[in-house]
Amino acid sequence: MANASIGRFIVITGPMFSGKTSRLIEFLEREQFAGRKIILFKPKIDRRYSRLNVSTHKGITLPATVVPVDKRSLLDMKKLADSANVIGVDELQFWDNDSGIVEVLESMADNGKKVYAATLNRDHMGKPFENTVKALSVADEIHFLTAVCVKCGADATFSQRIIQGKESFGKRIMVGGKESYEPRCRRCFVWPK
Ligand code: ZN
Repeated sequence: MANASIGRFIVITGPMFSGKTSRLIEFLEREQFAGRKIILFKPKIDRRYSRLNVSTHKGITLPATVVPVDKRSLLDMKKLADSANVIGVDELQFWDNDSGIVEVLESMADNGKKVYAATLNRDHMGKPFENTVKALSVADEIHFLTAVCVKCGADATFSQRIIQGKESFGKRIMVGGKESYEPRCRRCFVWPK
């Protein structure tokens, strides 16, 4: 095929407050500038700021298609992605582990799409997210971002959940921002006991 483009799967990972969504948006804006057709997906579970836009902590936004995080949504995603050259996915870690999302994104790349996915490296217990592990192992390109540890200023790769000033554990998914999470380095991160 004369116009077939080469697909690529690009994964952006790191802890909270490392700028993953900003980086994802920068990548997509760069593609948009070249006239590439973009579609950006966002998980339905995340209702921070806006349901129709992907927002960075800095407040930059791009229109997004909000989809459920189970298997059901993947057929719709495939259909919607068909007419785009570039696919963006924010918060990949939120999709169900058995949804098959990573396989679908990889098959999009196999079919000539450029796929950018932003995903958290670890949960608040320090445990890797399954979708992230999978995505990193099949990626063509990885961007590992770090935040700054709020305790000591070192590069942070962990996301600590904080409730009323204290480290908090418990269920895995709890959407929140600065009031409930903080970036920490390996030394300052408190593991669950
Ligand atoms: Zn530290």
